[in-house]
Amino acid sequence: MSFDSLGLAPALLRALADYGYTQPTPIQAAAIPPALEGHDLLAAAQTGTGKTAAFALPLLQKLSTSGQTMTRRPRALVLTPTRELAAQVHENLRDYGKHVQVSATTIFGGVSMGPQINTLRRGVDIVIATPGRLMDHMQQRTLDLSAVETLVLDEADRMLDMGFLPALKRILAALPKKRQTLLFSATFAPAIKALAMDFMHNPREISVSAPNTVTTLVSHQVHPVDTSRKRDLLLHLLSADSRRQSLVFSRTKHGADKLVTFLNASGLRAAAIHGNKSQNARTRALGDFKSGRVTVLVATDIAARGIDIEQLPIVINFDLPSVAEDYVHRIGRTGRAGLEGLAISLVSHDESGLLHDIRKLLKKDIAINPVTGYEPSTPLRLDAGAPRPKQGGGNRQPSRQPRQGKTSSSARPNGYAAPGRNEHAAGNHKRRSRPRPAAKA
Ligand code: AMP
Repeated sequence: MSFDSLGLAPALLRALADYGYTQPTPIQAAAIPPALEGHDLLAAAQTGTGKTAAFALPLLQKLSTSGQTMTRRPRALVLTPTRELAAQVHENLRDYGKHVQVSATTIFGGVSMGPQINTLRRGVDIVIATPGRLMDHMQQRTLDLSAVETLVLDEADRMLDMGFLPALKRILAALPKKRQTLLFSATFAPAIKALAMDFMHNPREISVSAPNTVTTLVSHQVHPVDTSRKRDLLLHLLSADSRRQSLVFSRTKHGADKLVTFLNASGLRAAAIHGNKSQNARTRALGDFKSGRVTVLVATDIAARGIDIEQLPIVINFDLPSVAEDYVHRIGRTGRAGLEGLAISLVSHDESGLLHDIRKLLKKDIAINPVTGYEPSTPLRLDAGAPRPKQGGGNRQPSRQPRQGKTSSSARPNGYAAPGRNEHAAGNHKRRSRPRPAAKA
């Protein structure tokens, strides 16, 4: 199938050709025609499947071919869980919309509101926002949502995980009832369905891969290792090819910082990206990684959302996520756009239970290969009763309470719902079989 058969305007086809996209991905083929027809969509698509273009192209087409552009009342709103994802969506919209007259801007916390207000005053067609800062603009009446015709909820499951449900409900209530809503989510949890029932109109359901699956292009490997030897094993693996770009996941922010210090002291070029870093530091770390100035990016789960690095060959889990679904999200950073990827997990005996959960979720065995010289003193257990890390133990930071429902500026000391802060939100979600422990990131 080619893009020509989807009903897209010539200006958009030209942009796709500029980027060498010859064929729509399955989610694009399934979502673009009904979206162009104006239907609401409930689309299950994990990251890396081309889901951004699946909503960006119909959005750009609608805005460029009907109604007025560049008014003070934006006509489309894209909500994302993190700033990085908002920036990524913005970049994609600019790329795909390079031959049409449609403007877009991002609204997220961690940067001052002034320039955002000025851009909104000048007039913009698409606002890409994280829920916290959007609420601030709504409260200060610096953003008028009364003309929004299309709402996109990107990575909706993650927004719920992060405790954004109250904010989402308030934002949804402020939008015109007559609108098109496109909801994209890696997983279809009951809470997502409930949101769709409440706020969508007869949505078409699209699922191009079963929820909670990872692309078959990624191969998985587990290296069992003692906790005390993980750092050395990581260094050993990274040193095998120090020019290769590797994304390393750490469960905690503190752990990510410690790893970066260790790797840099060992002669590698590493940077950390997590919610305790300033927005500038996060943007710089990501930019340096994308440009190849640093070859190892150590990230926490939430901060890594929206990281789209071309040809990222390898993701290493320095420790396993406490919730199995996060493994799917982590691994989604590699094996993107039809390329092969490798996911390596360093697993200690006390994480055996987490590995059990992941294997159960993926419904597949993962090869367990000890690395010579790093064999664990206690083998992994793979039964349901296998041990799990104690909550709040190890090098984690003390637990903080999630701030459910507090979305006003006064409730958020810095005036925004920084993703980093919400990394602690144990949240309003019901989909997880096991509650997400607070203060993990
Ligand atoms: P996404 O899932 O939207 O983050 O997209 C994952 C990656 O696939 C991004 O790097 C896109 O630029 C790329 N991509 C999206 N659509 C296509 C396509 N039809 N052909 C090739 N690459 C694509």
